[in-house]
Amino acid sequence: KLNSHPSGRHFLQIPGPSAVPDRILRAMDYPTIDHRGPEFQALGKKVLASIQQIFKTEQPVVIYPSSGTGAWEAALVNTLSAGDDVLMYETGQFATLWKKLADKLGLNAELIEGDWRHGVDASRIEARLVADTAHRIKAVCVVHNETSTGVTSDIAAVRAAIDRAKHPALLLVDTISGLGSADYRHDAWGVDVTVSGSQKGLMLPPGLSFNAVSAKALEASKQATLPKAYWGWEEILAMNEKGFWPYTPATNLLYGLAEACDMLLEEGLDRVFARHRRHGEATRRAVRAWGLEVLCLNEDEYSPVLTAVVMPEDGNGKRHDADAFRRIVLEHFNMSLGQGLGKVSGWVFRIGHLGDFNDLTLLGTLAGVEAGFIKAGVPHQRGGVQAAIDYLAETAGQ
Ligand code: PLP
Repeated sequence: KLNSHPSGRHFLQIPGPSAVPDRILRAMDYPTIDHRGPEFQALGKKVLASIQQIFKTEQPVVIYPSSGTGAWEAALVNTLSAGDDVLMYETGQFATLWKKLADKLGLNAELIEGDWRHGVDASRIEARLVADTAHRIKAVCVVHNETSTGVTSDIAAVRAAIDRAKHPALLLVDTISGLGSADYRHDAWGVDVTVSGSQKGLMLPPGLSFNAVSAKALEASKQATLPKAYWGWEEILAMNEKGFWPYTPATNLLYGLAEACDMLLEEGLDRVFARHRRHGEATRRAVRAWGLEVLCLNEDEYSPVLTAVVMPEDGNGKRHDADAFRRIVLEHFNMSLGQGLGKVSGWVFRIGHLGDFNDLTLLGTLAGVEAGFIKAGVPHQRGGVQAAIDYLAETAGQ
């Protein structure tokens, strides 16, 4: 069985890495060039300018050859000093992991407890900052699109809460899974450091990550004393002025990044975001028609990037095993769905609808889920795929 080649394309419907479109694969399939030469310099300047448009910023964006976790670390080590208080918010697994990383760096991270079914409640951040009259909290860190739950948080509301509290803390935001699929505005929302990665909405393979940096964050980085070498912004930004990096950059991924930015900007970011919102709505209609529950409880916070689905009970008060279901879908229908992470492990699975994605990709995905329910004996009502077809047909071309 292992040797037999599955025909057709694998459906990679996890919420990142997302499927890499052929146009990007081809753009990367070129010889690696001299990263100190003129051809590279033109590429470096192009990607640094294009990526600013994707973050909606006129401020610098640092590009690292690393996974998103590296850019999380970079955001903290560039702006903070050992023992600094930072305020974080438990939206789900990724917020929890960022907090653990902060602990390991010797920061004093406080996590506002959440239920993994709602986004950030900005009023709780405001109350905590108002209580911090000595301004010991140096940064507020939140996840924009919580990939473990399919819940998106209102970053403008967090900014407004910090401003209302008249608190000087920096605002650090993780949009690793949001950027390029969910609306994001680094400048307009007054974010100091935005962290992102290549393998989700940007449609690239894993391996690039980003810090978009405000003037206030740059200023903070001059005083911050956590050890930083590889992640230090200063040297990278100085070399970026000329289109270069202080070390060997991930040249072929940068070819891909140039293409990815072109693709997103050609379609138009607003159209891209509307496309993912529509696919999120079609997915939820399917879930409801199946008689199942979406993990996100607040309709204003539904993620356009992914939908987390709660497994139904089996009649004995136990939930059907989400991972056994996912294994059956992979084995019989050649599709990977996202597993439940952390606190929701085993009772939730996730459907990615991010990146290079269209109506028929969604219908194929939902058909695979519905067929998987039948094969795995998961109780559900028929008609989820039909509900999605109806909605997509009604709204096509709008
Ligand atoms: N933050 C969020 C919201 C994520 O979705 C992920 C990865 O899925 C990470 C951080 C960690 O990024 P990476 O796995 O690229 O290190």
